[in-house]
Amino acid sequence: MGAVGPGNSTIDIDLPNPPELEVRRLTWALGAYARSARALVRSRSLSQMAESVCRAIAAHQEYVIAAIAMAGPAPDKEIRFIASAGSAREYLDGLVLTWRDDLPAGLGPTGRGIRSGEPWVMDDAMNDPVFDTWRDRARPYGIRSSTTVPFGRAGERTLGAVVVYASVPYAFSQREVQIFQELGEEIAFAISVIEDQQKLEEARRAQAAAEAEARARQAEVARIARALTVGEFASSIAHEITQPLAAVITNVETAMRYLAPAVDKVEAAREALTRALRDADRAHAVIRETRRRLARDDGDFVRCDVNGALRAALGFVAGELDASGVAVTTALADGLPAVLASEVQLQQVLINLIANAREALQDLRGRERRLTIASQAEADGGVGVSVTDNGMGMSDEVRERLFDHFFTTKRTGMGMGLAISRSIIEAHGGKLWSEPGLPFGTRFRISLPAAPEGDDG
Ligand code: ADP
Repeated sequence: MGAVGPGNSTIDIDLPNPPELEVRRLTWALGAYARSARALVRSRSLSQMAESVCRAIAAHQEYVIAAIAMAGPAPDKEIRFIASAGSAREYLDGLVLTWRDDLPAGLGPTGRGIRSGEPWVMDDAMNDPVFDTWRDRARPYGIRSSTTVPFGRAGERTLGAVVVYASVPYAFSQREVQIFQELGEEIAFAISVIEDQQKLEEARRAQAAAEAEARARQAEVARIARALTVGEFASSIAHEITQPLAAVITNVETAMRYLAPAVDKVEAAREALTRALRDADRAHAVIRETRRRLARDDGDFVRCDVNGALRAALGFVAGELDASGVAVTTALADGLPAVLASEVQLQQVLINLIANAREALQDLRGRERRLTIASQAEADGGVGVSVTDNGMGMSDEVRERLFDHFFTTKRTGMGMGLAISRSIIEAHGGKLWSEPGLPFGTRFRISLPAAPEGDDG
C-alpha cells in the first residue's frame, strides 16, 4: 500500500478484507485503543506506558508484533524500540534501523514512515521491494505485512511511531491505521506529560540539592567562624598567660639560686619551690601545645572570584538586612582578576563587615539605612572591595582601637570580628582598614593582590 495519507480513500482494497472481517478488525482495534488509553492514563513512566500499549495491541492474534519506536536525534537518527509485545517480538532484537535517507537501514517501512511523518503500510512483506533488506530475516517469524504509524510530528521531526507487524498480508485498512494514528497522538501527549513531570521532578531535585548545598556552606562558614573565634580567643589567652608564666619560672629559678648556699631550714622551701617550678613548667608545656594545635589552618587557597564571594556573603545575611530595613546597593566591577584565597575565610570577613554595618544601621532614624557594597580593580592590579554604611560612624578613639582583640562597644560584643578579619586578609597578602563614610557612616576597605596568572592554588 505504501504511504497512506490520512484522508486518502483510494486504498480501500476490499478483496483481502471482506466487510465482516473489516468490522471485526475495527471493533478489535477500537478495543485496543480503549485499553491503551486506560494504560496511558495509569502509567507513571514512559516504558511502563509503552509496554502496556504494546500488550493491548498485540492481544490481537494476527498482530505478531506491536512496538513503540522512538526517533533518535541527528546525526545518527537511530530508531530505538522502547517497548514491544507479541509472539514474534524477538524479530526486533538486534535490528538496526535509522530514519536517515542515505543508509539502507533507513529505507525500510519504519524509516520511511518516521522520516515522512505519514503512516506507511506494507501490505505484502514477501513481495514489497521496500522490504528486500529484511525479508529473509522476517520470514521465519511469519511476518507478512506491517504498518508504521508516526506520532508527535513537530516541524521536520517525528517523535516516534507505533509499529505493528501482522501474520497475514493486507492486514491493515486505512481506518485501522487511523485508529493507530489517534492512539499515536495519545502516546505523544502522554510522553509530553511524563516528560513535563520528569522535568518538574528534576527541577525540584536540583532545587533541593542547591538548598542543601547552601545550608552546608552556611554551616561550614558558621563552623569556621566559631573555630576561628575560639581559636583566636584561646591563642590570645595563651599569649597573655605566657608572659607571666615565664616570669614565674624566672623568679622561682632566681629564688632557688639565692637559696642554694643555705642549709636544712630552707630545705622545705626549696622542695616547695621545686614543685612550683615543675608545675609552672607543666603549665608552660600545656600552653605551648595549645598554641601549636591552634596554629591557624589557612584552608585551601584557590582562585576565587571576589564578586562571587560578595554575592554569596550578601546571600547569607540578606534575610537579616531585610529584617533591619537596610537597603543594599551593589556596584560590582566586571572583569576583575581572580584572587588566591580561601573562599570560606574570604566570605567570613565579608559577612563580618556586613553584619557590623547592619548593626551600625539598625537603630538609625531620620534617613534611609543604606549599605553599599562595591568592588573595583586597583591601580596595582589587585582587587578592591568596600563595604560602606551610612550609620552613625565612630569616634576617633573607637577608630584607633577597632582592630584590637577584645575591643568592642557593644553590650554583647566579643570584639574579635575585626581582629580576626584583619589577620585573615593579611594572611591573604592583603590589607583591611576603615575610613569615615561620606557624608555619614563608615567604610571598610579591603585590597587583595590578584592571583598570579595560571596559578590555581
Ligand atoms: P564586635 O562586633 O563583637 O564588637 P568587631 O571587632 O567586629 O567586634 O568590632 C569592634 C567594634 O568596632 C564594634 O564594637 C564597633 O564599635 C566598631 N565597629 C565595627 N564596625 C562598625 C561600623 N560599621 N560602624 C560603626 N562602628 C563599627
